[in-house]
Amino acid sequence: MAKITLKNVTKIYDRTIKPAVKDFNLEVKDKEFVVFVGPSGCGKSTTLRMIAGLEDITEGDIYIGDVRVNNVEPKNRDIAMVFQDYALYPHMTIYNNIAFGLKLKWIPNGKTIKLFGKEIALKRKYTKAEIKEKVLEAARILEIEEYLERKPKALSGGQRQRVAIGRAIVRNPKAFLMDEPLSNLDAKLRNQMRAEIILLRKRLNTTFIYVTHDQTEAMTLGDRIVIMKDGVAQQIGTPSEVFNTPKNLFVAGFIGAPQMNFFDARLVKDGKYGVEYNGLVFPLSETAENNLSKENVSEQDVVLGVRPEHITLVKDEDQKKDGVPYVEATLIVCEMMGSELHLHLMIDDKKIIVRVPTLGITDKELDEYSDNRKVWITFPPEAIHLFSKEDERNLAYHRD
Ligand code: ADP
Repeated sequence: MAKITLKNVTKIYDRTIKPAVKDFNLEVKDKEFVVFVGPSGCGKSTTLRMIAGLEDITEGDIYIGDVRVNNVEPKNRDIAMVFQDYALYPHMTIYNNIAFGLKLKWIPNGKTIKLFGKEIALKRKYTKAEIKEKVLEAARILEIEEYLERKPKALSGGQRQRVAIGRAIVRNPKAFLMDEPLSNLDAKLRNQMRAEIILLRKRLNTTFIYVTHDQTEAMTLGDRIVIMKDGVAQQIGTPSEVFNTPKNLFVAGFIGAPQMNFFDARLVKDGKYGVEYNGLVFPLSETAENNLSKENVSEQDVVLGVRPEHITLVKDEDQKKDGVPYVEATLIVCEMMGSELHLHLMIDDKKIIVRVPTLGITDKELDEYSDNRKVWITFPPEAIHLFSKEDERNLAYHRD
């Protein structure tokens, strides 16, 4: 078990193009589960591979525990990596696939063996019985005991991935590094394995760093999430922090599905701050008001962000509440998702999505969500996010 620290880490593959990872700083605490998430090519794998020792570090330092590991061989870093493609040996049984790394471990003194023509005093680090015990223990944790005599091709994708994890578990590493371990599995299996990784983490109680492009995986697995874009960590925080107070427009759009709706709007101040959209002024939350006042933020064009589940919608004009500003919209598509509706609306030529829970909705009411009907929406103060048009920062919640 160990903390892992990255200090000003930069990776440049090719001097002619942008760095793959730029000035990355992070301290992963002992036993913490940290997820790197971001679109393809943002530098997640490169960062993980530098921690594992599979890529050189161009600038900066990486520490495992208190040891600087920049020049430590991967095999001596005492961490285990699980890859997307499982990397199992097809000709070996599952037992041997899991045991393989342990059989390869030798320590000095003991039986003499001949290596490159020289007599060297070495003995296997683990006896046969010890290896068996470790493999059976891992197989039990992962519930693959009954497959140990099979070859990898006789297993499903999910079972193979468990074997790959088993191979990492038996090494009892200080930390697990996982690079998109579930991305080759179908959606249903992925959900199931996600829950299994949560259980595995509880059982092993060690440090995990996990790479994924899937924001749901990141939100459900991570104690903290690092959202990356173009080699730069955009925000590091708990799932609720990055969801509720995204640091910038990119994080706001990346975390949450369906995506946050964005509108061209204007921050205005008439005594109190408000946001003007579609000729209406929407009041802000007390927190936003306080933060904006503290920094004396000036009136300016902004991007207004509101999550689909935070928009309030009424189907009839007489349901509008007095004193609340409503924007008229046209319903173009209603998707029935089971527990909720995804309503696709048009406001002039702007397309947005609103989520409406279906609990208690009657069939008659459902029928009323018919195409091309008029609806009215409003944004509760707590639902409003404001982003600078200049540098895309969240104006109300992050000022650093
Ligand atoms: P991610 O894991 O987020 O998809 P990567 O870390 O694999 O991103 O890649 C980050 C950037 O570095 C990309 O622009 C990618 O093309 C580039 N890159 C990755 N590996 C190499 C390599 N071996 N040589 C040159 N460029 C690379």
